[in-house]
Amino acid sequence: MSILQCVKCGNVIPSQPPRYRCPKCGGLLEYRIEKEKISHLGFSGDFRFWRYRSLLPKVKNEATMQEGGTPLYRAKRLAREMDLSELYLKDETRNPTNSFRDRGAALMVSNILDLGLTATVCATNGNMGASLSAYCAKYGVNCHVIIPKLVDMGKLAQMLVYDAVIEEHGETVDFSIERAEQLAEDTGWYQATPELNPLVVEAQKTIAFEVTEQFGVPDWFIVSMGSGGTVYSIWKGFKELYELNAIDRLPRIVGVQAEGCSPIVNAYRKAGEKHEKPMTHAIGIFVVNPVQKDLALTAIRQSKGLAVSISDQQIFSAEQQIAKLEGLFAEPASSGTIAAVENLRSEGKIGRSESVVCLITGSGLKATDVLQALSKRRKTAIVGAEFSTKEKLLRILEKRDGYGYELWKELGKTMTRPAVYQHLNELCSRGLLSSYTKKDRRYFTITDRGRRVLKAIDEVKMML
Ligand SMILES: [Zn+2]
Repeated sequence: MSILQCVKCGNVIPSQPPRYRCPKCGGLLEYRIEKEKISHLGFSGDFRFWRYRSLLPKVKNEATMQEGGTPLYRAKRLAREMDLSELYLKDETRNPTNSFRDRGAALMVSNILDLGLTATVCATNGNMGASLSAYCAKYGVNCHVIIPKLVDMGKLAQMLVYDAVIEEHGETVDFSIERAEQLAEDTGWYQATPELNPLVVEAQKTIAFEVTEQFGVPDWFIVSMGSGGTVYSIWKGFKELYELNAIDRLPRIVGVQAEGCSPIVNAYRKAGEKHEKPMTHAIGIFVVNPVQKDLALTAIRQSKGLAVSISDQQIFSAEQQIAKLEGLFAEPASSGTIAAVENLRSEGKIGRSESVVCLITGSGLKATDVLQALSKRRKTAIVGAEFSTKEKLLRILEKRDGYGYELWKELGKTMTRPAVYQHLNELCSRGLLSSYTKKDRRYFTITDRGRRVLKAIDEVKMML
């Protein structure tokens, strides 16, 4: 049902033996469905990845860990914040290894089993390595993973636990990809690097199929971009449904990158600018020379979409916002999609009544920076809890003197009165408060030292 074709020169090549570049021009390859041979969609079975086999390249084996069929949440509280009527999160954290890459791993490992191969190599900055090593573990394939220096700790932990052979190569994943390409050539190992293996785009286009079944076609589909392959996958999915007359409109695709490393956005703006030293803490999308840049640009331009960049600060605050308002812990790379919607909404580029889907690619538990930030947060949270009542008392008494019962009422009666007196006495003994008696009542007043402590707290809070 599909043919393998070069995206650059259009050369059609046989899919056997597996090839990853056009033998004529070295261009990337992609599968094209032969729509004249498809009379109906033929989606069947459970709401899972393999339901869409009729539009996937043919495989005999079907490797599975029950990937796909992930929920599409309506994010009402986030939508309200942005004055948007319909916002949905496609929650790919629900996959077996907690990312969208499980789809690609399922299809590639099926292909590996069909070919009777026993080893594979994959360059990855995280999720694909975690997915592939899990599926390889299950199906007894030797998995070699090439990772760059910077990789999310949670993802690395997964690769280790699933017993992949891990080699570190290069500062960024760009170098790891070169190494994986060389290794596959030298050893004959199956090439599972998502930027090179055209099955990955095929597997990921099922996200678009699922959203269509769950909701229909949204006005906007927002996706983060590293190499650009995911943006293209989503677009390809919708386009195929459109070509097969299964849908009558197409979404506009927005590709999101981090400001510190946004080669695809720069190319979209036709800005010649290059970052002196590209960097982002959203490691999942830290790609300096995206292999699938042209494919991503095709998706964005054909869909009349946009390419936008977001600061790391916005990415991380969006991550907290998604967690706080929707109970979903998204990895930084995909939290940027929410920050992007917020910006596009306030610029009026996304209309109030338009429907938006954001792709949440993976779980926040996988990311290094988040774990570090959390351990830092935990310390401050404990300090904060210890301070909160005393700090509140100091803040009240900073404005005017007060007595116990009054202060207890002002704290909202959230604790016993003896507890309030205990806090007040402790503050007195530390010299932050002093007390005097007036009309048989013991009044508390803040000391200079107390004021200095409040000022110090403010300064510390500003640094956090
Ligand atoms: Zn070619």
